[in-house]
Amino acid sequence: MPRPLLASLADAHRALATIDDVAITDEALAALTDDAVLEALDRAAAVRRLVDARSALLAGEVARRSAPHLAHSGLAQRHGHRTPEELVRVTTGSSRHDARVAVRAGAVLIEEGLPEWAQALVAPVTRGELSTAGLEAIRSGLGNISETVSADALASAVGALLADIGALDVDRLFRRARQLRDDLDVAGIADRERGRRDARSLRVFRSSDGMTRATWVLDPESAAVVTDLYDRATSPRRGGPSFLSPRDAELVERMRADDRTPEQYASDTFLELLRAGADADSRALLSSGAPSVRVVVTASDLSAGTGAAHLEGQPDPISLPTAQRLICAGTQTAVLIASTGQPLDVGRSQRLFTARQRVALSVRDGGCRWAGCERPPSWCEAHHIDPWGSHNGRTDVADGVLLCRHHHLLVHNNGWKVERHRRPDGIDDYRAIPPASIDPQRRPIPMPARAEPVRQVLPAARRRSAA
Ligand SMILES: [Zn+2]
Ligand SMILES: [Zn+2]
Repeated sequence: MPRPLLASLADAHRALATIDDVAITDEALAALTDDAVLEALDRAAAVRRLVDARSALLAGEVARRSAPHLAHSGLAQRHGHRTPEELVRVTTGSSRHDARVAVRAGAVLIEEGLPEWAQALVAPVTRGELSTAGLEAIRSGLGNISETVSADALASAVGALLADIGALDVDRLFRRARQLRDDLDVAGIADRERGRRDARSLRVFRSSDGMTRATWVLDPESAAVVTDLYDRATSPRRGGPSFLSPRDAELVERMRADDRTPEQYASDTFLELLRAGADADSRALLSSGAPSVRVVVTASDLSAGTGAAHLEGQPDPISLPTAQRLICAGTQTAVLIASTGQPLDVGRSQRLFTARQRVALSVRDGGCRWAGCERPPSWCEAHHIDPWGSHNGRTDVADGVLLCRHHHLLVHNNGWKVERHRRPDGIDDYRAIPPASIDPQRRPIPMPARAEPVRQVLPAARRRSAA
């Protein structure tokens, strides 16, 4: 018969309290071998997990007795506290964060707090093999069942994670759980990505102290670009790279001698970038500079067009269409990974237009070719019209059209397609084909070039050659 909880905790407390009898003097600690230190640390952590699990169960019970419907007669309120977390914190002398973790873990450990597919997590927690923080990491990393992710799939993800709990700390456990979820939920990746992209915003408002503030909410794709610029603008001042060319070293020296704070420096740098951008040549194509952020993707996912990719420095995966668009635009370098995890290739999958071809495209198209779009070349990326993988290694100007970022996104992420159609007189027409969700018949929409020079020079030349 199991012993009552209170008696067993009292025994455990008594056993641990005898720690005074155990040699923990400076000399005794110093005399331990390295292995003994690590083993003792591991044991102490195991004890802590056992104690945390019991604490969580009790915190959960406190929460149950303080349920909102009990109002003033609830346990917490009777003791003069607004919430069970507050009562737990005051009773145990723990931090706000620890009290919250205990109550939350307790809530899922007692009774039906955990969904059916996660029940396998309870026993390892009560046995002290999985910490309450680890339980929370797995729960939040795996998320909930959805249309695309079944309870069975999540249950087997739990099984896979439990096999690894000895080797993974809480942070890694969370990342691994999130990764398993993403593997199960490839369709969800594109949805989450769209949700985040829709949530992007920049607001500028004046405050009463005469300053103007900006709140810039960035989706991961925008953040990858901005944080890269920010890091490059400020990193030498924050301790910076340790391998430097003489020119870099000189720059670092100059920056160190600068008496601006890193925040002031960053502000000035972004302002200079904006000024330079505003003055930029409107005929020069967007993002013709060196790509600085990397897209990591497996070769098999890239050629199949399904799965997910990662932006260097961003925690969540991006959808395959987004990876293909970034690679198409040449703003990001592609790093291909084999199924063994070995990097295969850097950049070679990219069919980038050369600087001269970009000039040719600017002259031919005069800006975004989408019907009605007025963006000049400096807002545009060169889109490669060949579907992925069907190219023969050649990048021809005829295979490219200029699209502004917005319309480039429509093509890759919203199912549009650009087609080239060669007329009998040898002139190429480009046409946008809408997805079936917009036009079931997918009727092509012409994409006329807006470029004045070509329009002016061509008819006259044709008349001359015909004469
Ligand atoms: Zn493209
Ligand atoms: Zn456009």
